[in-house]
Amino acid sequence: MSLIVQKYGGTSVGTTERISAVADKVMRYRERGDDVVVVVSAMSGETDRLLGLANAIGSVPVPRELDVLLATGEQVTIALLSMALQQRGCAARSYTGAQVHIRTDSAHNKARIRAIDDARVHADLTEGRVVVVAGFQGVDEDGNITTLGRGGSDTTAVALAAALKADECQIFTDVDGVYTTDPRVVPQARRLDRITFEEMLEMASLGSKVLQIRAVEFAGKYNVPLRVLSTFEEGNGTLISYEEPDVEQALISGIAFNRDEAKLTVVGVPDQPGVAHRVLGPVADANVEVDMIIQNVAPDGATTDLTFTVHRNDYSKVLSILKQVARETGAQDVTGDDKIVKVSVVGVGMRSHAGIASTMFETLAKEGVNIRMISTSEIKISVVVDERYLELAVRALHEAFNLEQPALI
Ligand code: ADP
Ligand code: ASP
Ligand code: MG
Repeated sequence: MSLIVQKYGGTSVGTTERISAVADKVMRYRERGDDVVVVVSAMSGETDRLLGLANAIGSVPVPRELDVLLATGEQVTIALLSMALQQRGCAARSYTGAQVHIRTDSAHNKARIRAIDDARVHADLTEGRVVVVAGFQGVDEDGNITTLGRGGSDTTAVALAAALKADECQIFTDVDGVYTTDPRVVPQARRLDRITFEEMLEMASLGSKVLQIRAVEFAGKYNVPLRVLSTFEEGNGTLISYEEPDVEQALISGIAFNRDEAKLTVVGVPDQPGVAHRVLGPVADANVEVDMIIQNVAPDGATTDLTFTVHRNDYSKVLSILKQVARETGAQDVTGDDKIVKVSVVGVGMRSHAGIASTMFETLAKEGVNIRMISTSEIKISVVVDERYLELAVRALHEAFNLEQPALI
């Protein structure tokens, strides 16, 4: 008998029929003798619908009120799933984030979980109930409802699994595991039996939205065994775990991409100590996260160009900040492009192999894809390219690194 935390995503609970099917699935684990805590997302499309309502009221919704609104989506699905379980003779209880004391900081719309008081959940499990918890939401110290950022139900599940010391955290979704790249873009993508936390973290950070980044961070930090599986088909899915040296290590595990990027350049800014701070300081002060940064030395040696990327939603805000910065610093111009994407190859096997970058650049060159920016780390190489090349670049790289084949060095 084990304690399992299961999370069902939006598509998996998208209709009442699907919620009933989830109840049947949960029952099978109960009948096997497992204790089950279930975390659910809102029905698919619901969080977007609620966001649309907020935007219809005003273009910039107040973050606190937005959280009160967005948290309602998950409150619907916990109640419906509990009803479906009870109808099947299975004792179950639903709880909102606040009711099970998922305590977060006060950063509305992107709150971080600080603590979970698991007493109530344990008490229910001891009484033989299935506990159904609303994903994506918590409560801050002052009792305000908070939400954890898009895709945040994954993080609720992992945090609960860590707090309860569950044997496994299972993320049930509409794909049967983590693939070498998004199977919707490359149909030949291959499901991975396992992937390390480190690689999964890179994949998630670089745009693979199958798991929320914070969920992977949390699972790695607390060593929560994490598995991604299909709600609709049987199978073992993908296990995310620590690196095991004897596992046959693929050179490249996968290709991630992010369509949410935009690029900005401050052209001809006087090259003095502190220039990066003068340009990027005001951007950070506006609470905008900066991703890739490149500083070039101009031929005259007196000025420099500074290029960086931000989330596409922040593009126009940053453009106007930079125009102000340019006036203050005497920079020549500010340019920008919000039709770019980032494509990355990821793999811990890269550490011990040279030549990955050159294969990547050669492949893109052959396809006529112009690289606009490059950044590297020990286990990833990212390039920024024009948005129109996204599918071409991902497919070509998937083929060049033989990712359709089972992993062999
Ligand atoms: P849920 O609503 O269950 O949380 P998501 O839409 O958040 O589901 O995540 C599942 C989706 O992630 C898949 O449908 C797939 O298109 C996408 N995805 C992106 N990258 C990958 C990848 N490397 N492997 C598997 N799925 C991926
Ligand atoms: N419903 C939220 C969202 O769509 C949280 C989640 O599904 O994980 O982002
Ligand atoms: Mg998700």
